[in-house]
Amino acid sequence: MPKHVYLFSEGNAEMRDLLGGKGAGLAEMTRLGLPVPPGFTITTKACVSSMKRGKFPPGLRKQVFAALATVEQASGKRFGDAANPLLVSVRSGSKFSMPGMMDTVLNLGLNAKAVEGLAHLSGDRRAALDAYRRLLSMFGRIVKGIEAAKFEDLLTAHKRKAGAARDTDLDERALEALLADYRALYRAAAGEAFPEDPRKQLLQAIEAVFRSWNGKRAVDYRNAMKIPHDLGTAANVQAMVFGNLGEDSGTGVVFTRDPATGERRAYGEYLANAQGEDVVAGIRTPMRIAELEAKLPDLYAELAKHLALLERHYKDVQDVEFTVERGKLYVLQTRAAKRTAAAAVRIAVDMVREGLVSREEAILRVDPQQVYQLLLPRFDDAAKEEAHRAGKFLAKGLNASPGAATGVAILHPDRAEELGRQGKPVILVRQETSPDDVHGMLHSKGILTSRGGATSHAAVVARGLGLPCVAGCEAITVDYAAGEFRAGERIVREGEPISLDGATGEVFQGLIPTVQPAFEEQRELQEVLSWGDGLRRLQVWANADYPRDARVARRHGAQGIGLCRTEHMFFEPERLPLVREMILARNRGERQPWLDRLLPLQRADFLGIFREMGDLPVVIRLLDPPLHEFLPKYEELIEEVAKLKVAVHNPDALVTSAGTEADRRFLKEVTERGEGDVGEGIRRLLPEKERLLAAVAREREQNPMLGLRGCRLGITMPEVTEMQVRAIFEAACALKKEGVDVHPEVMIPLVGHVNELRHQRMTLEPVARQVMEEQGVQVAYKVGTMIEVPRAALTAGEIAEHAEFFSFGTNDLTQMGFGYSRDDAEGKFLLKYVDMHILPENPFQVLDRDGIGQLMRLAVERGRKARPDLKVGICGEHGGDPESIEFCDALGLMYVSCSPYRVPVARHAAAQATVRSRGAGSAQDK
Ligand code: PEP
Ligand code: MG
Repeated sequence: MPKHVYLFSEGNAEMRDLLGGKGAGLAEMTRLGLPVPPGFTITTKACVSSMKRGKFPPGLRKQVFAALATVEQASGKRFGDAANPLLVSVRSGSKFSMPGMMDTVLNLGLNAKAVEGLAHLSGDRRAALDAYRRLLSMFGRIVKGIEAAKFEDLLTAHKRKAGAARDTDLDERALEALLADYRALYRAAAGEAFPEDPRKQLLQAIEAVFRSWNGKRAVDYRNAMKIPHDLGTAANVQAMVFGNLGEDSGTGVVFTRDPATGERRAYGEYLANAQGEDVVAGIRTPMRIAELEAKLPDLYAELAKHLALLERHYKDVQDVEFTVERGKLYVLQTRAAKRTAAAAVRIAVDMVREGLVSREEAILRVDPQQVYQLLLPRFDDAAKEEAHRAGKFLAKGLNASPGAATGVAILHPDRAEELGRQGKPVILVRQETSPDDVHGMLHSKGILTSRGGATSHAAVVARGLGLPCVAGCEAITVDYAAGEFRAGERIVREGEPISLDGATGEVFQGLIPTVQPAFEEQRELQEVLSWGDGLRRLQVWANADYPRDARVARRHGAQGIGLCRTEHMFFEPERLPLVREMILARNRGERQPWLDRLLPLQRADFLGIFREMGDLPVVIRLLDPPLHEFLPKYEELIEEVAKLKVAVHNPDALVTSAGTEADRRFLKEVTERGEGDVGEGIRRLLPEKERLLAAVAREREQNPMLGLRGCRLGITMPEVTEMQVRAIFEAACALKKEGVDVHPEVMIPLVGHVNELRHQRMTLEPVARQVMEEQGVQVAYKVGTMIEVPRAALTAGEIAEHAEFFSFGTNDLTQMGFGYSRDDAEGKFLLKYVDMHILPENPFQVLDRDGIGQLMRLAVERGRKARPDLKVGICGEHGGDPESIEFCDALGLMYVSCSPYRVPVARHAAAQATVRSRGAGSAQDK
């Protein structure tokens, strides 16, 4: 018979797979000797088996009751006993933390008899009745799916009748009457009476907790957090302790360090005379831990001792739930604390200084995504001050999760999701959030709540998602029915723009501009990154097209340029006309004058980039995109020509409505210069447009991404390659003469057959030699190719004989490997595929290791076999994605190249890859 049930005293921290994070934590704390109420865990495996079979696996019931007997013994109480009743909670807890996404049932074991026993035991009949009332509504809601609002309505009605302002104001008589109504509601809604048999309650609650693994909230959250769906949750059954037995009882949540800033001080909240979820739900505003220290110093001292032990033991910041029952402290749960990006970095640095963790461990503690967040825009100080002066300041709440967020205020999570999916920036504004709102939060840019503290649902989830959040902003009133929120006299209607500063808690009307924080000033981040630099194997290069990009890349620590897309230079407004003429020329003779005009412009670009990069390698890719990208759209041209033809007979129509902006400008100039009237202008314009249309029609392709692009351009128009290579080498020679040891690397795009590469090499090398001869200097250079056509990966051995380096163009390799258009797939079906789990991720964001990765592996192996010193890197978008970077490290690439702003993220991800490959890691998840 498999073991389905583990007493807390039987488990430990290593058993997360089987006992879930919470169960493993409770077991570990029990082992450490902390005051944990006794209990046991039913395994995740039992959950998975129950889900599959539709009922509990054999032996589970028996094991549950045997464990229960042990808990009875430990607590000295009996389940369902009329004199000395044991009450238990059943809480979910999977391997990965999913805060609030699954269900919990409290106060199990109460019935008409046991409630009197509890009353006697606690000496507080009112509290006992209240516990029973909570059980009925919670059990009804979670086990039987009865709408929470129905219980709430009854509670409100009874409060009104009794003239009670708060729940705790209801006296015994009122509670008894409420209980009778709850029972009747339960019977009517569930079609049966509330089970008075505590054992039935327990089994049904366990079943419901297992079921909540597949609830909508949980599934949505797992999708967002990329947590596998087949893990199942454990169920933790634990003796209840009561925080609501009067003013010497209470419940709290405490972090061993400040999760917003990382500062080393206990941070959290305590709510006197309250139970369980009250603090997290954020319904009443609790007292700060600092106040607890002042008010109950002995209790605080004991708590502080436990906190220190837990932090030392887990070597990480802990998020601890505790309850005080009649002055006795119990620790209910501990887990690694979720923290902001700034806190994560500060804590990592501090813990290394304190000797608590090694540098390697500290590197793993900072998520690459958090590095990115630290480089995200913040509100421009001046603009914020201006907003204050202009009276745009609305209110200040709790700075629950940092970052600047701007968007339209939306009061309902469904609508937030709808607009968010359309790409509109949304700020979700709620009185408070609950797990039912998570789908809306996932699609918002920021969260604003009027109630709740720093550990309220909104704050915790926002921090986990890296979303700016202002919580507990009591100065605002959210009115769902009116579709607005008010701050004093001011009214913000749903759909109007607002700005949130999650770092200060300020809320403003309107949109405030943001600024990029200075990377150099983030000293702690620099320190963590420098530790990583000292050990990572992969180099990090950058994709940079202009000198200004190269400068950012270097500032961020790039060790080279892995991709300079030369075509981007062609898009500059003053160059585009030259490029168009160059493209539309019918032969080399017609084309050369335009190339001659482009040459100095390109040379200046390269000079700028080489100067920025000094002696670091710079990979320059020859012209790549389909030419239509430089030309006006065919359909639009047809329309313009048609309009011009009509306008020949009716010139005024064109001036007022038809034609492009440029056309109208041209016509204005013709008339202003006195060269003729509008009609004359149109007669001059029309043949030009027709010539352009004919040329565009000639260049049109059905599948341009599979058409005349990449090296195919250079092969059909070698003079373009020649011009670009001349520009590269003239720039390189000029710098070499200035004493800069430049390292240009010329990259041929879209090679699928070795002969394409050979052709381009034969075209470019004589030009390179000639320029160096003309200039009288030699420059060490390399010629290589992109690997972005599947055939190139397969024939990498032959290709490597003619290439000194490979760079994986995984954007095209993914496009051609999957056969998905990179321009259309995401909009049409790809995101849906991810939603439907047909694909685990968007392969244009996260490298598909199984398919595209296999092509890469082959190419590396075959390429290196043919040329052992082959340099291999990656320059597709995946070069900036942490998961893909880890894969590139495993493949043994030399570098990853990504956008300049992602360079710090890539440095960190590469460092993590090295640390992980050496086998370091930490057991506790957040
Ligand atoms: C690629 O295909 O991955 C690549 C880097 O080139 P581009 O995105 O310019 O096609
Ligand atoms: Mg490409």
